[in-house]
Amino acid sequence: MMYNGIDFDTYFKNYPDENGYFGKYGGCYIEEKLKKAMQEITDAYFTICKSSKFIGDLRRIRKEFQGRPTPISHLERLSNSLGNVQLYVKREDLNHSGAHKLNHCMGEALLAKYMGKKKVIAETGAGQHGVALATAAAYFGLECDIYMGSVDIKKQAPNVARMKILGANVVEVTHGLATLKEAVDAAFEAYSKEYKDCIYCIGSVLGPHPFPLMVRDFQSVVGIEAREQFLEMTGELPDAVVACVGGGSNAMGMFSGFVNDPVDIYGVEPLGRGTTLGDHAASLKYGTEGVMHGFNSIMLKDENGEPAPVYSVASGLDYPSSGPEHAFLHDLGRVKYDVVDDEETIDAFFTLSKMEGIIPAIESSHAVAYAMKLAKQMGRGSILINLSGRGDKDMDYIIEKYGIR
Ligand SMILES: *Cc1c(COP(=O)(O)O)cnc(C)c1O
Repeated sequence: MMYNGIDFDTYFKNYPDENGYFGKYGGCYIEEKLKKAMQEITDAYFTICKSSKFIGDLRRIRKEFQGRPTPISHLERLSNSLGNVQLYVKREDLNHSGAHKLNHCMGEALLAKYMGKKKVIAETGAGQHGVALATAAAYFGLECDIYMGSVDIKKQAPNVARMKILGANVVEVTHGLATLKEAVDAAFEAYSKEYKDCIYCIGSVLGPHPFPLMVRDFQSVVGIEAREQFLEMTGELPDAVVACVGGGSNAMGMFSGFVNDPVDIYGVEPLGRGTTLGDHAASLKYGTEGVMHGFNSIMLKDENGEPAPVYSVASGLDYPSSGPEHAFLHDLGRVKYDVVDDEETIDAFFTLSKMEGIIPAIESSHAVAYAMKLAKQMGRGSILINLSGRGDKDMDYIIEKYGIR
């Protein structure tokens, strides 16, 4: 399929290019001392990902450990309450550990194992990536260092406990504001010293090349399964596909299955409390081109051109940029990026819970909220939503802040 001059039949072969660019976005903007480490990962990935043993191992793990394929569920009651559009959800909440993140963490940790590394390193903000990586590390018998700001350690006590129970080493970062940014710096600093024994595992389709490519590949299982399952269930493709976008990994996984189809694709960003800078994390909607954390993309900047403070009720979505491939698909117009705010999201959280017996993660509730609005606009047809995770982790917070609705 041709779209705006891009041939989507050969899209995955051509994007990113060999230097990790999706058009002008992506690349590898890192210090000299980390270049060698990144090159090692790139070389290893391009060799190993083609080996039938690696592919076979990953397939077996997805089935026997992760519980894949995850099903698609038809939201019959919710659809009927909205009109004639049929809504469906891809159940990544049923993936082991409760979200899509394990899809790329298992891939990254398996790569580490194949490269003969002893350890995986990462940073975490809300702790979701840390928990998924700690799970993967335990499975493969790898050491796991998770860098986390002391402010986040206090806020995310249950996830810190999970990581520790899984055997990970949670490294407290105390300098600066002691949140995600400082944790990223500390983790990269440690990695530059230890890269012979470990690999850095990035938690989304972000960071320097080859991570946006690699994480997309590992997440593409979501889109591949979903396309096949949806065809089998309904005999046709969905009219629209919807996913929430933080860094963009669950969305890229889902979208990769449908970019070459006549399907409308929607990425949903968090509008939080409103359009004022600092009150949202809708980077693709309101941001501008810039380089941060090792890649060129569209980002929210403060008056000094530094990453701006961001906010969302969903801690997994409050990142001031999104993966370079999203920036590319945004400019191309192939994916439409839109927003929903905190209120609409919390409404959708309760609606899906009460009408369908599925408690969604607050992140995923953004996609549900958008699909509910879209269903009313479309009038007829079908929408497939990527339900990126389950809401168990969010229940205490929701009850405390919003009460029962
Ligand atoms: C982390 C997380 C997200 C956001 O990350 P992406 O890379 O944008 O997918 C979305 N949903 C859940 C459940 C998450 O844990």
